[in-house]
Amino acid sequence: MTAQEIRQTYLDFFVERGHKVISRAQLVPYNDPTTLFTGSGMQPLIPFLLGEPHQSGTRLVNSQTCLRAQDIEEVGDNRHTTFFEMLGNWSLGDYFKAEQLPWFFELLVDKVGLDPSRLYVTCYLGDEAHNIPKDSESADIWKKLFSSKNIEAKEIELGSEADGAEKGMNDGRIFYYDSSKNWWCRAGKIDHMPPGEPGGPDSEVFYEFDFIEHNPKYGKYCHPNCDCGRFMEIGNSVFMEYVKTEQGFDKLPKQNVDFGGGLERIAAAKMNSPDVFKISILKPIIDKLEEISGKNYESHTESMRVVADHLRAATFLAVDGVSPSNKEQGYVMRRLLRRAIRFAFELGVEQNFLEQVVPVIADLYINDFPEVADKHDNVIEVLVKEEKVFRQTLRKGLVEFNKLTENELSGDVIFKLYDTYGFPSELTYEEAFKQDIKVADDAQKRFEFLMDEQRKRSQTATKGVFKGGLGGQTLQHRKYHTATHLMYQALREVLGDHVVQRGSNITEERLRFDFSHPEKVTPEQQAKVEEIVNQQIEKDLKISFHEYPTPEAQNMGALGQFGDRYGEKVKVYKMIADGADKPFSFEICGGPHVDHTGQLAEGSKKFKIIKEESSSAGIRRIKAILG
Ligand code: ATP
Ligand code: MG
Repeated sequence: MTAQEIRQTYLDFFVERGHKVISRAQLVPYNDPTTLFTGSGMQPLIPFLLGEPHQSGTRLVNSQTCLRAQDIEEVGDNRHTTFFEMLGNWSLGDYFKAEQLPWFFELLVDKVGLDPSRLYVTCYLGDEAHNIPKDSESADIWKKLFSSKNIEAKEIELGSEADGAEKGMNDGRIFYYDSSKNWWCRAGKIDHMPPGEPGGPDSEVFYEFDFIEHNPKYGKYCHPNCDCGRFMEIGNSVFMEYVKTEQGFDKLPKQNVDFGGGLERIAAAKMNSPDVFKISILKPIIDKLEEISGKNYESHTESMRVVADHLRAATFLAVDGVSPSNKEQGYVMRRLLRRAIRFAFELGVEQNFLEQVVPVIADLYINDFPEVADKHDNVIEVLVKEEKVFRQTLRKGLVEFNKLTENELSGDVIFKLYDTYGFPSELTYEEAFKQDIKVADDAQKRFEFLMDEQRKRSQTATKGVFKGGLGGQTLQHRKYHTATHLMYQALREVLGDHVVQRGSNITEERLRFDFSHPEKVTPEQQAKVEEIVNQQIEKDLKISFHEYPTPEAQNMGALGQFGDRYGEKVKVYKMIADGADKPFSFEICGGPHVDHTGQLAEGSKKFKIIKEESSSAGIRRIKAILG
């Protein structure tokens, strides 16, 4: 069974069980400025998991193309790729554990044909501090499923990953892990969940490669979540069962299922191959690289994996309309391509080769993703062009290298080549080696120091962005700043979640706000926005802020401004009514604000929109006052 066949089998299986196939979201999320890429099947469905009705109903299925730039350093191992497909099925307040777990088991064992004795599962141990019970419901279901295949499924309580390494397998089949492993929430950690936020236990399925010996480097004993490679996570069922309140946790009235499973990994399990690069949608790329380089995969495994993965990711980015640049998605795409080209050097490929590889990649998807066929020629053109640009950069870098380096290579030169010409440090070292030039003893240290300085400079620049048009500190400025947050949220409620901040400017007299929206905001809509803002002023919301690590803030759904690059930590401002369990506004921002929204009404003022106009294509501009 090929990966393509597994994808189809999965979709058919869930369609037979009442699901509607929804199309994949593009790799660039279209209404979410806080994340660069679609990294899971669940991500585009968040509004629906939070209660908005979905036009296709309550049972959904798809295969979502995902990009996880954060996994870039893991590529080269046997099971991580930056681009992958996540098979997903969802119940929006429809079925729950009793359907989900048996269906996934049936799919894996009876349809895909995996040996059930190779499957191990994890369940949620519960959390005493938060008064959440152990998920024995899921464990009981798993017990019955294994028993139907004559497998005795012993339950073992492990706790954290570290506990797992201490305690080991103990002949278990069902393993309980704590909140650090088997609890899902957008904030990442249970302790960071804001009131009103849903979350719940998850249950993961692992495939065991029994011919891989545990490597004690990863811990004393092996267990399903051990990273030694013996176990590979192939799917995860999240049960959105609880909601955080001010007091603790309540059960949600409508419970959701969110399942995500890696297509590449299930296909690898089907082949009993721990290496995902052996499957039908990756192997042909490796074959082509072997052919072009004349090297073999066994002796150049890591480089070939990196090249194959990165080119596949870049191909899909191009399909989804991204082109290499120095910003945001384009920057990641450029980095992937340049990294691929650089790793190809290690295979001895120093000439243009994308024109040969990209069509091989496109061919693997052309039948299942019509957009790959539609964009075929354009995709090749975009990638090949970037390859040319980069090779020019490399050539220029080499000329500079020769100019700047006589007897010894210094950290300053390595940095200059990197900073000015995008010339990767590895290549600089290699060139020095080739030309028999000595590398200064402190070269690496000095290079790292300069890189660090550079990072600090750009972070300071980012902090400046927070202030943006909001620089002033007078009370009047602060009031308009707060009004801006209220209006931003009100615009999203009235017009939709595609509304994203594109600019803001505040004076003593008025606020000005630019945002994405394809058409005029009608007078009725403007009146509605005014009404919502004035209501929130009347409710006298309390305003406070908290600092979070950036990814966490983004996971929690804090609003941001399109295209902003944030430092490691960000301030998130919350405006919440007394006794409410959800803030009205939750936004990444440097401040400052007033302390409570009632201050905006001082002097019997009301919030009023005084002008609505086009700012540029697809961007509207509103000016508003407190008057
Ligand atoms: P891992 O711990 O292996 O990185 P994860 O916990 O990040 O996995 P999830 O976020 O639960 O994974 O994603 C759901 C499924 O997607 C996983 O069960 C796995 O099969 C697949 N998956 C996740 N990351 C990758 C990746 N980088 N490459 C291929 N498949 C992946
Ligand atoms: Mg991961």
